[in-house]
Amino acid sequence: MIPIAIGFLWLLFRTTQSHKRQQSTLSSEYFKGLNYLLNDEQGKALDIFVKLVESNWDTIDTHFALGKIYRKNGEMDKAIKIHQGLIARPSLPEQYRCQILLELGYDYLGAGWFDRAEGLFKEVLIQDKKSKEARHNLILIYQQEKDWYKAIEIAADLYAENKPVVGPMIAHYYCELADISKNKGDISQLLNNANKALEYDVNCVRATILLADQERSTGEYAKAIKLYQGVEKQDVESMILVIDALLECYEKLGQQDKSYEYLVALQDRHENLFLQNVIASELEKLQGRKAAIEYLSDKVKRQPSLSGLQKLISYKEKESACSDEYADLAVAISAMQKDNVEYRCQKCGFSSNTHYWLCPSCHHWGRVKPSVIELDS
Ligand SMILES: [Zn+2]
Repeated sequence: MIPIAIGFLWLLFRTTQSHKRQQSTLSSEYFKGLNYLLNDEQGKALDIFVKLVESNWDTIDTHFALGKIYRKNGEMDKAIKIHQGLIARPSLPEQYRCQILLELGYDYLGAGWFDRAEGLFKEVLIQDKKSKEARHNLILIYQQEKDWYKAIEIAADLYAENKPVVGPMIAHYYCELADISKNKGDISQLLNNANKALEYDVNCVRATILLADQERSTGEYAKAIKLYQGVEKQDVESMILVIDALLECYEKLGQQDKSYEYLVALQDRHENLFLQNVIASELEKLQGRKAAIEYLSDKVKRQPSLSGLQKLISYKEKESACSDEYADLAVAISAMQKDNVEYRCQKCGFSSNTHYWLCPSCHHWGRVKPSVIELDS
């Protein structure tokens, strides 16, 4: 309670500085309220503050700030009481109504009462059709509830104003719908939704993967290869996500030589895309283990990587008479790799060995990417 009281005292100081004329009449009541706050008598403190704001609505910012402090502290019930107390005042000036509704909406969001928060943000939109804050929060709620149609409807209103940010979001909502269609076996809707996603974001890797996977699943391997290869132009870092499927398609077509050529050319175009292990595997299939060892030995010198070294050791272990020594080395390198993560969010740094389209930490779409790659900029 002490930090809250200190925060409030600071706010009070600011308020009284900007309203010196009211200070003499208000300060005794403020300090009385503050005393209640310090003594953990929240109810009595709030009664006083709400009455004070009614006698001088210019002090409402102090109440908003106090509500934010409670919310930040996880004391949603107290924040809700403040804002409910304000909204219920008959003398509430109309100009403050939307702000209070927004604050109350945040309180409900913090308490996990999404349906109540949704109602409040919708009410704000009725009163202020241009409120980006209300729209943004409604989008977050619909995302949380996985109500993709409603999320699309609200986000579409923001699209024209900010295509680079809103376009990729809407694209992911269509991809979510495409995933649902895929699980239901509704192929025409799957294709429709994935193509819609690409209309909103031409670089939507996820939509391309959905389309390519669909071609692959029906044996249209050449078409699938073309789509998977298109990921390079959309977002080269995401190529790692499609390499296995791409190689499978080449294999189904009996074109391992082409897949090897493609991988080498891709690696040449993007030096920091770590493809050495997958290239070594393809080389092994085409020319045998010795060729793979030669390639990897040279590669790990020029482009050091633990996983490359690990693969080289596993080859050497099979080739050499001193396989026990190589086995010990492999164990040591495995231990060094145990903290490595496969995916990292480029927005907030969240890391995981599972790939997510929506970052579980910062809730940004498409920012969790393979972490083994260092991009050419
Ligand atoms: Zn993140």
